[in-house]
Amino acid sequence: RAKETGRDTYRFFSADMQAHSLRVLQIENALRSAVVQNQLALHYQPQIRLRDRRLTGVEALLRWTHPELGLISPAEFIPVAESSGQILGIGEWVLRTALAQARAWCEAGHTGFTVAVNLSMVQFRHPGLVEMVQQALADSGVSPQMLELELTESIAMDAPEKVIAIVQQLFDLGVQLSIDDFGTGYSSFSYIQRLRVHKLKIDQSFVRHLGEDGSAQHIVRAIIGLAQSLDLESIAEGVETATQCEALLSLGCNTGQGYYFSRPVPAAQLDAWMTERRVTLV
Ligand code: C2E
Ligand code: MG
Ligand code: MG
Ligand code: MG
Repeated sequence: RAKETGRDTYRFFSADMQAHSLRVLQIENALRSAVVQNQLALHYQPQIRLRDRRLTGVEALLRWTHPELGLISPAEFIPVAESSGQILGIGEWVLRTALAQARAWCEAGHTGFTVAVNLSMVQFRHPGLVEMVQQALADSGVSPQMLELELTESIAMDAPEKVIAIVQQLFDLGVQLSIDDFGTGYSSFSYIQRLRVHKLKIDQSFVRHLGEDGSAQHIVRAIIGLAQSLDLESIAEGVETATQCEALLSLGCNTGQGYYFSRPVPAAQLDAWMTERRVTLV
């Protein structure tokens, strides 16, 4: 009996793993032509200063629509692109496309906000990163202070001195730097203190449970306190309700981003946000 169960379990995992690796291969193959076939697009999600509901930035989020496979989530294809190395080309496309959009917004008279781009660990570890960012900025003509780069907290798992040096080089380019999904990694206070960044982005898993009983409130309070003591801005991800928004404001969080304000949308749909810069929610 035990033997049979064992065999079934094995067969189940085996079939499951096979389907998974097929899907990974399929995605890896399809990604090869995604850029040239124009299948990638960036959507932008507003970042709102909680105190006065003003737009302070937008985050560029990658969208991939494949003609047969349909819309594929970045949560699924970014890890594939990372393990295949394709993220280097895709990441540069994302940066250049976001900068071209930033340039277009500037030319339309919309300035005074940041455009944030996510950087993968793999890009961060690549020796050509700083030069690539510098070149993309120069080619776009966009002022470095309008660009924000989001680093994941997992960079903290690499050799500290190396990471600190690269973060410093990016800082010296004059770009804004934030640590994404903060609170989910293992970085220590002393480590974060040595990273030259501007903002901590509170992970949405903590924001989601704000206003409920439990530890979320304490964790969010601690992260905001940490940000304040290091003289960093705090931004909350995944704000979905007015209750969360009010809780964040009372805890001293500077900025919010989430479906409560807007989903990530194509640049053209942000026209009203760019013009008004302040959106009144009902
Ligand atoms: P992230 O950088 O932490 O981005 C936030 C994610 O939360 C986005 O998912 C966004 O659509 C989603 N989100 C925003 N507001 C809300 C909300 O109120 N509720 C909920 N439930 N979700 C919300 P998305 O676009 O699917 O991206 C997932 C992840 O994929 C990103 O997490 C980022 O790590 C990665 N990613 C996306 N675009 C890029 C890119 O251009 N380059 C790299 N390296 N990674 C990217
Ligand atoms: Mg992000
Ligand atoms: Mg995040
Ligand atoms: Mg995330």
